[in-house]
Amino acid sequence: MADAIVNRRDLDFQLFEVLDTEALTSRPRFAEHSRETFLAVLDTAQAMAEEEFAPHNRKADEHEPSFDGQRVSMIPEVKDALEAFCEAGFIAAAHDFERGGMQLPVVMTQAAFSLFKGANVGTAAYPFLTIGNANVIHRFGSEAQKAKYLDALLTGRFFGTMALTEPQAGSSLSDITTSATPNPDGTYSLRGNKIFISAGDHELSENIVHLVLAKIPGGPPGVKGISLFIVPKFRVNDDGSLGDRNDVTLTGLIHKMGYRGTTSTMLAFGENDRCMGELVGEPHKGLTYMFHMMNEARIGVGMGAVMLGYRGYLASLEYAKERPQGRAPTDKNPATPQLPIIEHADVRRMLLAQKAYVEGGYALCLYCARLVDEQRTGADDAAKRQAGLLLDLLTPIAKSWPSQWCLEANSLAIQIHGGYGYTREYPVEQFYRDNRLNPIHEGTHGIQALDLLGRKAVMDGGAAMKAFATEIARTAAEASADPVLAGYAAELGAAAADVAATLRALAPVLAENPTLALANAVLFLEAFGHTTIAWIWLRQALAAQRGLRQGAAAQGTDGDFYRGKLAACRWFYRWELPKTRQWHELLRSLDDTTLSMPPESY
Ligand SMILES: Cc1cc2nc3c(=O)[nH]c(=O)nc-3n(C[C@H](O)[C@H](O)[C@H](O)COP(=O)(O)OP(=O)(O)OC[C@H]3O[C@@H](n4cnc5c(N)ncnc54)[C@H](O)[C@@H]3O)c2cc1C
Repeated sequence: MADAIVNRRDLDFQLFEVLDTEALTSRPRFAEHSRETFLAVLDTAQAMAEEEFAPHNRKADEHEPSFDGQRVSMIPEVKDALEAFCEAGFIAAAHDFERGGMQLPVVMTQAAFSLFKGANVGTAAYPFLTIGNANVIHRFGSEAQKAKYLDALLTGRFFGTMALTEPQAGSSLSDITTSATPNPDGTYSLRGNKIFISAGDHELSENIVHLVLAKIPGGPPGVKGISLFIVPKFRVNDDGSLGDRNDVTLTGLIHKMGYRGTTSTMLAFGENDRCMGELVGEPHKGLTYMFHMMNEARIGVGMGAVMLGYRGYLASLEYAKERPQGRAPTDKNPATPQLPIIEHADVRRMLLAQKAYVEGGYALCLYCARLVDEQRTGADDAAKRQAGLLLDLLTPIAKSWPSQWCLEANSLAIQIHGGYGYTREYPVEQFYRDNRLNPIHEGTHGIQALDLLGRKAVMDGGAAMKAFATEIARTAAEASADPVLAGYAAELGAAAADVAATLRALAPVLAENPTLALANAVLFLEAFGHTTIAWIWLRQALAAQRGLRQGAAAQGTDGDFYRGKLAACRWFYRWELPKTRQWHELLRSLDDTTLSMPPESY
């Protein structure tokens, strides 16, 4: 149990009791599915994650990939695990049956993928980047590009990357300098350097398809001049066979704190002036294409953060039950046996905090994945639009909140292990190191905050905020009718009103003095995030109450499970949600302490 990936009862609860995923099977796209097929997918994923991915998680961390100037090598278990993953058809899981996919709802694919992330986030990164890459080509590529690349990506013959970052352009993509010059045959010649490209080189697949952001000379400046290109490691002939090596050079591997199983690469494009790329879609729309896929990618990042937090939580829970240390404050007799540390209130605090963070984050990421399905297959245009608005608004939270708080969960898991948690003999230190990436990549925490306050919260005259307020009011109304939950409903209502009041105060300043209005954007992200998670916890508490009311099912361990949900909800409302009041106060005061201190005074 110490190395359990997830509490499967929790995952099934989220999917079937909170999100009613089974209802999706009444929609034409998912009509071939049933609760049984959904469960079978999860069972297969769980078995594969436990048997093929988890066993080499530590080994991959200790033996990171190496580069001898010619080839990248890594432990063989990575390739074996990925072959099993591809053979099971998981890369194409959400795609149409006609493309060889399983036509699963996104919420089910995210649920299944969460198990691989929990098992071994470094190995799982290869197929998940490939899935993101394939989704872009599927959505925006030409028929010829799909024929050449898409099927090979969906079967795992080729793997993919997302190549955005350059040494001088990380958060600020408008400053990329990689160029793409048109050739008479319709292809482009690329030239430039990318850094931090995950899975940028390896020998795990026949080919690597890079999706590269570059600028066509003469185009508009800044982000409006960015285009997107398919740049394969080996050129692909029209019949799908591999041609010559393209001019993409691995100039070095980056050695990281965590996520060590995934190669992190520095790539040079066109060092010998023969790097061929194919334009995706229209020129200068590259960033729009990439961002279309970002919602899912960012939910995926949040999910990875959740799963690392979840594993730490489960490991520290097992440890707390087994580790004897100390006695109750009332027991001064050294002859009595020591208590397992789970008996100490402070250890329970750390366990409950972890539970609230990881199960709250899990519920949010799955909810957002369900919104993707709603946006695509909702009953009518109004339902689809509502889902789209909510998804846009909640994506920065789904990415950032778990990256911050499930990392905090990992820190608490180490704390529960005491000195042992700080050693490499126990798994919790690796979970922390792996998770530390998540507030950095796919848009840093600070950049997500600017996106939320500067754009998402105020876009379309606040339409997304209105959609969010409607959902909160719906949940609060339902909870008000339950005497156990009515108090939380009132607190949630007050927290949501606080978010709205802060936005009303900041909106005019955003127009007049954006530097001041955005100076404390991270606090807004955190206050909004905590309010969202409080709402998500109340949804779980409502489902737990329904479960408890069902009598027989609520006996025994199921009753314990539901009561655990109510306790974690209570913890979040008592310990976490009240913090937002002070954050709002600071935000509304337009505090300029950070802005006003000049760099030379540090
Ligand atoms: C392990 C790993 C894997 C990665 N994988 C990929 C990949 O596959 N593909 C890819 O393209 N990239 C990848 N990246 C790159 C990653 O997306 C960038 O590191 C990230 O976007 C931040 O860019 P930067 O490192 O240049 O930091 P900077 O942009 O220099 O940021 C440094 C600090 O300044 C802050 N900052 C920057 N600008 C602002 C601003 N305007 N306002 C407020 N604060 C600001 C940031 O929040 C941050 O705290 C990866 C990175 C790592 C570490």
